Amino acid sequence: MNRTLYGNLIFELSKKGRKGYSLPQDYDRTHSTAELPEALRRKEAARLPECDELTVVRHYTNLSHNNFGVNDGFYPLGSCTMKYNPVINEEIAAMKAFAGLHPLQPAETCQGALEVYFNLQQSLAELAGLSEFTLNPCAGAHGELTGLMVIRKYHERVLSDSSTSEKVAAGNEPSPQQGGAGKGARTKVLIPDSAHGTNPASAAVCGLEVVEVKSLADGTVDVEHLRQLLEEMGDQVAAMMMTNPNTLGIFEPRVLEITEMVHKAGGLMYYDGANLNALLGECRPGDMGFDVMHINLHKTFSTPHGGGGPGSGPVGVRKGLEQFLPTPRVVLNEEEKQFRVEAPEGALGSVGSFFGNFGVMLKAYAYILSLGRENVKMVGPLATLNANYIKERLRDDYLLPIEGLCKHEVVFDGLVDKSTGVTTMDVAKRLLDYGYHAPTIYFPLLFHESLMIEPTENESKETIDAFIDVMHTIAAEAKSDPELVKTAPHNTPIGRVDDVLAAKHPITTYWKSLEA
Ligand SMILES: *Cc1c(COP(=O)(O)O)cnc(C)c1O
Repeated sequence: MNRTLYGNLIFELSKKGRKGYSLPQDYDRTHSTAELPEALRRKEAARLPECDELTVVRHYTNLSHNNFGVNDGFYPLGSCTMKYNPVINEEIAAMKAFAGLHPLQPAETCQGALEVYFNLQQSLAELAGLSEFTLNPCAGAHGELTGLMVIRKYHERVLSDSSTSEKVAAGNEPSPQQGGAGKGARTKVLIPDSAHGTNPASAAVCGLEVVEVKSLADGTVDVEHLRQLLEEMGDQVAAMMMTNPNTLGIFEPRVLEITEMVHKAGGLMYYDGANLNALLGECRPGDMGFDVMHINLHKTFSTPHGGGGPGSGPVGVRKGLEQFLPTPRVVLNEEEKQFRVEAPEGALGSVGSFFGNFGVMLKAYAYILSLGRENVKMVGPLATLNANYIKERLRDDYLLPIEGLCKHEVVFDGLVDKSTGVTTMDVAKRLLDYGYHAPTIYFPLLFHESLMIEPTENESKETIDAFIDVMHTIAAEAKSDPELVKTAPHNTPIGRVDDVLAAKHPITTYWKSLEA
């Protein structure tokens, strides 16, 4: 293995007896009462690395330089919107008044934090055109599961109590349960084949059965196939899950017809709002007829994500479904001017620990406030403009499978010139050499060489132009020197890795790697 000193694992830098700390001399005595019972203690000493402080600090500092984040450079990842993280958000989330709170603190002592929580619930409801939000779920997929649990509870209640359907029907939109379907349990979830992989996974975890709805050649939902499915099994359909604009960045032109058809059959409409930026200020899922949705605060509202970092996937519902949301919820007692935490005997109880990831909520709220009512309207149009600008300027070199306006993201099907054998993977790897994060590749599955680019609304024209130039340079290299592109990256700390090996045989501990 060819590693520099700081490319070693911390275990490999270990020298017996070296320390980076010193403890008080009476440490043993003062801590003896806290010791674990003999029976629970390990017999041999823990095999921890032994290093001096400088070695530890340099090791981790150097590792951090091998990382690439939104603060390092352009990050055009599609479908998983990766935005900049305004510094003011970090400052607000780190304020002692917030960071020092305890989740079990009495409500009277943290009214400010509860106000933020309450206001975010309200802001999201307004942006989405829905009635109420829970901030409890901690990720997009967690939100999907929560939303589907809400839907399942709703159908169970409908089965046992016919008055519930009247309550939902009292909302201002096409009423689910119209048409009087729904005699037995509703166990099926309709999901377009272009959906994000978490959609079918969440439905399965929720104990529901996934039925795939086909896409047309242009990537939109095949409404005739949907009609056929509803005719076959309409009274067993719990919900249809949709992403709109879909994962190709195309707005579903027949969305109103789709929501009406599913409602007529007695199913509810679920909206995957992980990436809501294309719509912000332009239109709202509630107005399109959706009943339940989640939003990824860590995509749409400015917290970068990845590597399992903290997320937040609030779930919103239409009027009449609030009673099925999980608890706790923060409510305002108008008379007392006090915010209260309520955990009524909800249909679901709690789906996460305490209130969810409050730090992510603070950043989202700060982002919404700093945009303000006026500028939030610019998010969708700017995200759309940037994506279409890239689409038009790259289509001479990159194969555009679907004509027409896209929304916040654009999908190419690899290079136009396939004769060189240079693939989407090669282009993505070569981008790393030029200091860019790779776009999303090989998703969606509708094309062989999918290359999905999302610039987001936040990038300047100069940044986008520089990226376009590099994409053209790579296309030219693919012709003049295909080997150069096929063996990229060349300028990164490590060269091309075997992704499949890492995924199939992960070695996650040093000692295991020695034993292997
Ligand atoms: C990211 C994403 C999800 C899942 O969100 P996580 O927070 O990663 O669980 C679901 N749907 C779409 C369209 C997404 O982009």
